[in-house]
Amino acid sequence: MLLLDEKERLKLWHTVVQIIETYAKQVSEHRVTPELDPERIRGLLKRFDFNQPIDAQEAVRFAADSLWEHQVHTPHPRYYGLFNPAPTTMGIAADTLVAAFNPQMAAWSHNPFAAEVERHLVRSFGPLFGYRAEDADGTFCSGGAEANHTALLTALVHSFPDFARHGVRALPRQPVLYVSSEGHHTFLKAARMCGLGTEAVREVAVDDKFRIDLAELAARIQADLDQCFAPFLLVGTAGTTSAGVVDDLQTLATIARSHQLWFHADAAWGGAAALVPELRPVLRGIEHADSITFDAHKWLSVPMGAGIYLTRHREILEKTFRTDTAYMPRDADGLDIVDPFAHSMQWSRRFIGLKVFLSLAVAGWDGYGAAVRHQAALGDLLKQSLAAAGWKAVNETPLPVVCFVDDTRPEGRSAEYLSNVAGEIVRSGQAWISTTRLGGSIPVIRACITNYRTSRDDAAALVTALNDARQKLSSRVGS
Ligand SMILES: *Cc1c(COP(=O)(O)O)cnc(C)c1O
Repeated sequence: MLLLDEKERLKLWHTVVQIIETYAKQVSEHRVTPELDPERIRGLLKRFDFNQPIDAQEAVRFAADSLWEHQVHTPHPRYYGLFNPAPTTMGIAADTLVAAFNPQMAAWSHNPFAAEVERHLVRSFGPLFGYRAEDADGTFCSGGAEANHTALLTALVHSFPDFARHGVRALPRQPVLYVSSEGHHTFLKAARMCGLGTEAVREVAVDDKFRIDLAELAARIQADLDQCFAPFLLVGTAGTTSAGVVDDLQTLATIARSHQLWFHADAAWGGAAALVPELRPVLRGIEHADSITFDAHKWLSVPMGAGIYLTRHREILEKTFRTDTAYMPRDADGLDIVDPFAHSMQWSRRFIGLKVFLSLAVAGWDGYGAAVRHQAALGDLLKQSLAAAGWKAVNETPLPVVCFVDDTRPEGRSAEYLSNVAGEIVRSGQAWISTTRLGGSIPVIRACITNYRTSRDDAAALVTALNDARQKLSSRVGS
């Protein structure tokens, strides 16, 4: 039963391929959002007590139908959400191959090809961000959370030589790190998981453009030094989650250097700006980062999850993660190779790099550059169309995230009104957008061009939907 017979397999593959193709073709005609009804889904699952095995065709059709009806369709061109793109065709093909061949990524000798593909990619992405290829090291991760956790660990190992053996309790002073209040909350989790505790994360206020406030940062570091804390890590965010804003990485690099802090650039989404010459300057200074987080499942649109941790310190991953075991294969002893498990948090690991490798091989840097450029241009168009309809953008970034309020209504800046507008659209199924707060206090509606298939018509449809929602809400107030 675990291996179906050949006839059944072929039928099954055919069905799966059809489902995948139909989804890619027809998702744009479907509602973007599902109804949220946990009881309905639990009801559907009730029949599965696993005592009565069902037919393979029926099983995959059940899964596909349920996914069609019960998810936010992030691959939909009118999903204006949180950096969750439509997966590349090559990425889907790659993940399928990976599931079938099931390479074991822990030991190099079990998967020389897979391990070398990932090494090759690390040495290709390093130079994209200004590292020398021969200096670049890195590891593929489940996502940005693991990459940022890895950054925190490597920074600790680098700054406190005792840490790897004796842990944080052996340190004479409390280590502290700096990230803007608009930075990603993965650093809070990572601080917990590293035994530092969340108090060690200094969330530095932002300036009027929602970038880390440099004066505030300098003052905070000084105050910590005066009070005998041990600053060790400075994080610059290249593409904040709420507003798509990039910190001044160049100046952050200088500040980090002057205090001997590890400088980490969290470019999980925004790093893709490096692919487009006109956008690239926004990342100026990233080449000085000691480590970089870049998520291929964000703007490179490969299926989840594909985080990349890059560093220009060739020895640091080994120092952080190597442990010696008697049972791991030694077949490659003496060769000039790295065992992936000795350079990463994960041990047995999926071959994450193939979906990036095949997507990049087929699209090329130029193909990706064109997609990023298209999305940035649509972001500009969306911003203009919103402005023309009286929606006021409050963030400033060349990347396609627009955060806006309603300038045509007295209540147009209130959190309640904005969330009613966004809720109206989400419930209608026409699009997915969200609300957030910038600088911890300013409520906004947020729309991101996250999908390479989003068109000018889709952007126009979003503005129309917003205008309709505004109309509907004010007639409700008036009645
Ligand atoms: C998405 C994101 C993360 C978290 O990455 P996951 O892939 O969701 O784990 C961290 N930092 C930034 C800036 C992000 O955009």
